[in-house]
Amino acid sequence: MGDLIRLLPDSVANQIAAGEVVQRPASAAKELLENTVDAGASEIKLIVKEAGKSLLQVIDNGCGMSERDARMCFERHATSKIQTANDLLAIRTLGFRGEALASIASIAQVELKTKRTEDEIGSCIEIEGSELKSQSPVNCPNGTSIAVKNLFFNVPARRNFLKSNTLELKYLIEEFFRVALVNPGLAFTFYNQDKILFQVPASNLKQRIVNLFGLPFNQRLIPVEQQTDLVNITGYIGKPEYAKKTRGEQYFFTNGRFMKSPYLHHAIENAFKELIPSDSFPSYFIYLEVDPKSIDVNIHPTKTEINFLEIKSIYAIVHAAVKQSIGKFNLSPTLDFETEPSMMIPLPGKNQAIIPPSITINPDYNPFEKKLDPQSRIPFHLKSAVHSLTEEETESLDSLWKKDEIPEPARVIQVRNSLLLTFTQSGVFIIDQQNAHERIIYERLMNQAEHSPGGSQQQLLPQTITLTHEDAQLFMEWKDLFEEIGFDIRNFGNNSFLLHAVPADCRHQQGADLIESVLESLKTSSRNVKTSDKQNLIRAVSRKLSVKNGKKLHQQEMDMLVEQLFACKVPDISPDGKPTMIKIPFEEMTKKFKN
Ligand code: ADP
Ligand code: MG
Repeated sequence: MGDLIRLLPDSVANQIAAGEVVQRPASAAKELLENTVDAGASEIKLIVKEAGKSLLQVIDNGCGMSERDARMCFERHATSKIQTANDLLAIRTLGFRGEALASIASIAQVELKTKRTEDEIGSCIEIEGSELKSQSPVNCPNGTSIAVKNLFFNVPARRNFLKSNTLELKYLIEEFFRVALVNPGLAFTFYNQDKILFQVPASNLKQRIVNLFGLPFNQRLIPVEQQTDLVNITGYIGKPEYAKKTRGEQYFFTNGRFMKSPYLHHAIENAFKELIPSDSFPSYFIYLEVDPKSIDVNIHPTKTEINFLEIKSIYAIVHAAVKQSIGKFNLSPTLDFETEPSMMIPLPGKNQAIIPPSITINPDYNPFEKKLDPQSRIPFHLKSAVHSLTEEETESLDSLWKKDEIPEPARVIQVRNSLLLTFTQSGVFIIDQQNAHERIIYERLMNQAEHSPGGSQQQLLPQTITLTHEDAQLFMEWKDLFEEIGFDIRNFGNNSFLLHAVPADCRHQQGADLIESVLESLKTSSRNVKTSDKQNLIRAVSRKLSVKNGKKLHQQEMDMLVEQLFACKVPDISPDGKPTMIKIPFEEMTKKFKN
């Protein structure tokens, strides 16, 4: 037998490499977007059709390519970013392997138009399955446009492997977010099926987060900042009270790349411990800058894991920085927080134990409680899961309150701005004002939804609400139910809605705010299988509209609250299953005094 080994033709080698670089439209988009950043662009457009399966185009106003480079860029290992192996140690660009364009061109029909400022005329290249189809001069703006059509047209097995357009679009959005979050100074537009899905102008980081995730984020973010010899940390974390049940906005970047580091993720989550329920996830947008020599850059382009040399020290610094930010910004008068006079942490010696900077956090701090009055703290156990009772269950409970008992008028007093004390012929009642009010609103809205759906209050001027893409989808799912309880909502396009009417219970200006926080709470509260969607929605609305513990009430308000509570069908328990009142019968008290 003769020799058997042959070199694979480039087109085949490229297709094999493509399997690693381009799994789906989103991975191709990532490569194209990162190239625009490397090319120094300031305005970048991402255009997709059919979730990138039929068209994926990226247009930038960056440096462009010469006529020769326009051809060269599709060759394997063709890169302008490194020349020697040593360059790898100081890599600052996103790409450097020179594989992406060669891979993409091997499994799609690609049209490249590019022009440098110094050139009179640009170049147009058409390439299909690694095969050059045409090259011609073209009149085009400075910068580069790469259109990738019919991804995997020549690899049907891979094409069939793609997920639904909805899911592939989700992956695309995620890649877009990652690039946009790390380059707030660049303007991005994302077109889906000829419509703008996201448009974010050049801005600072906070504004970028708000532009991508929606206006509510404006109030939710706490800055994180820490400079040490080893690492510089910047970014934002979400306030503990906005932690979500779904792992939502958690972004971690190192030297301008999105990275997953389960270890450092733990450092952040750990800093939130005790402040958020154990099954909730904090939002974070954390950016690390380290010396490129201290990380392993020779990672695969699609891998997002990263290796740090000094991972233990970085863990301690990230943990301390996040904890410090939470402490500084929760503005609680009872929070006992000691700032390190100087957070410059010296590089520890090789075998030296690392002592994380110590910060004292008040373990009683409860982010769910609005402490308008520092005196009004009610013990609250974050971990105690509250069992939600169904209407039937609650109705079958023996009520503490017998219907014939009537509290004497003006005999309600408020204690610690949270508890109402009153008594009837049979005993003393201690009422939790917030839980009680939730019950009252809940029954009123339930009643309204059942008997006069749509009973509402017209807004003088309709209010506009703009939601994040995700929230808008969720809102659309719940829209009918919102309307049943008295909202009048018109779709305004582009994730915006016009609010024409709100339930009679809401004050005017609360509408948009109410919808946003109700959506948030619908996201976080797992759908209770025992209760209907309507009950869940009304429960969330009641939670939001209720008077909070810590609020001082006027005598009239207290009297009314007690009267309305006792008029409820199920006065003892809040819609979430928490007690609204405690009763101490007189006999029990008398007994106690006898002994
Ligand atoms: P890498 O980014 O790893 O160098 P790519 O295959 O992504 O490899 O790109 C190959 C080369 O093509 C780049 O090094 C760069 O010189 C050029 N290039 C790619 N995209 C652009 C762009 N949008 N603008 C200017 N040059 C580009
Ligand atoms: Mg690249």
